[in-house]
Order: sequence, then C-alpha cells, then structure tokens
Amino acid sequence: MHHIASELNQDVAPENKAKPRLLLHACCAPCSTAVVERLQADYEISIYFYNPNIHPVEEYRQRRDELIHWCKDVAKIPCIVGEYVPEKWLEQVRGLEHEPERGRRCNRCFRLRLQQTASYARKYGYDLFTTVLSISPHKRHQHINRLGLALARQSGIEFYAANFKKQNGFKRSIEISRALNFYRQNYCGCVFSLRKFKA
Ligand code: SF4
Repeated sequence: MHHIASELNQDVAPENKAKPRLLLHACCAPCSTAVVERLQADYEISIYFYNPNIHPVEEYRQRRDELIHWCKDVAKIPCIVGEYVPEKWLEQVRGLEHEPERGRRCNRCFRLRLQQTASYARKYGYDLFTTVLSISPHKRHQHINRLGLALARQSGIEFYAANFKKQNGFKRSIEISRALNFYRQNYCGCVFSLRKFKA
C-alpha cells in the first residue's frame, strides 16, 4: 500500500499539491509583511489578529484596520479578528506591571495570544500555527518558540518555530512598510510599554 501511495503522490505536479494551512498570529501589518512574503510560497496562510494587550482602543483599531486592509488589498489572504477583551489580558499579567520588556509579563502576554491562536487553529482544522512576534528585535524568539512548542504538545497542532529576524527579516519589514506608507508604532502595545515610552 505504501508503495502505491507514494507512486500516486509522484503523479501530482508540485504546484498542484495542497499547501499546509497555517494560522499566523499577527500584531500589526508592518511585522506581518516580511513573514508572509517568506512563507507564502509554502503555506496557505490565514492571519489571526488576536491582541487584547494593545492599549488604548484607538491604537488597537488602527493596527487592526491597517492589517485588514493590507490582507485584503495587497497580500490577498484572509484576516481573522479575534475578540478584544483587555480585562482578560490584564488578569493574566496582574502583579507583573513593573516588569521590564522581555521579562515575565511579556511571557504571559505571548502565552495568552499563542494559546488563543492554537485553540482557534485546532477548532478550524489548520495544520499548524505560528506568530510574527519573533521578527521584532525587542523579542526573544527562544521564549516565543518554547511557549509555542509547549502549546503544540497540549493542543495537538504543530507549531512552526522560527526566528523571523534572521536573514534581515526585520529590515525587510521596514522596507515594505515604508513603501506602503504604513503606520509604525513606537511602543510594543500594552499600557505599561506605552508609559515607559512616554516617561
Ligand atoms: S511589552 Fe509588549 S509583549 Fe510585553 S506585555 Fe506589553 S504588549 Fe505584551
């Protein structure tokens, strides 16, 4: 049987093979550009915007709407928007308000967003999930990947571990964002990172 199956597979031209369905968690359009460019040849990508960490709501809407428009008009990929319940995020990071960026608060923040992504991916039959977050020079890909792989074991959905900073990923995201005249935020997203930026 194995022999027949592999013969049948060889009859399928590579361009006609179905690509694995990847649910890509994204925080904004600029960070998504270079990641989608890198993965689009090999995966059927859907963007998942789930970011209850973003404060204030006007900032949330700005990042969300720009991403929706870019997905629709430029990248031509689906963009799914998750619920926005900042109280849920605050609950997760309670007691860690004064942690520095890259510290324990950020790990909780990654976990909430990745957990939700894995759960959505499982519910809707995706083959794997990942996040654009590792493209940021302010984020450690090791933490993100460790969390993603642990969630993969729990959820049964494969996690695509990556460091999207590599091969000039961040630089490329800036190039594309400038060319498309994107808004580029100057703080990570939560109220605590905003306060630090303004301080
Ligand atoms: S600094 Fe960024 S990653 Fe860290 S908790 Fe705030 S929004 Fe989340």
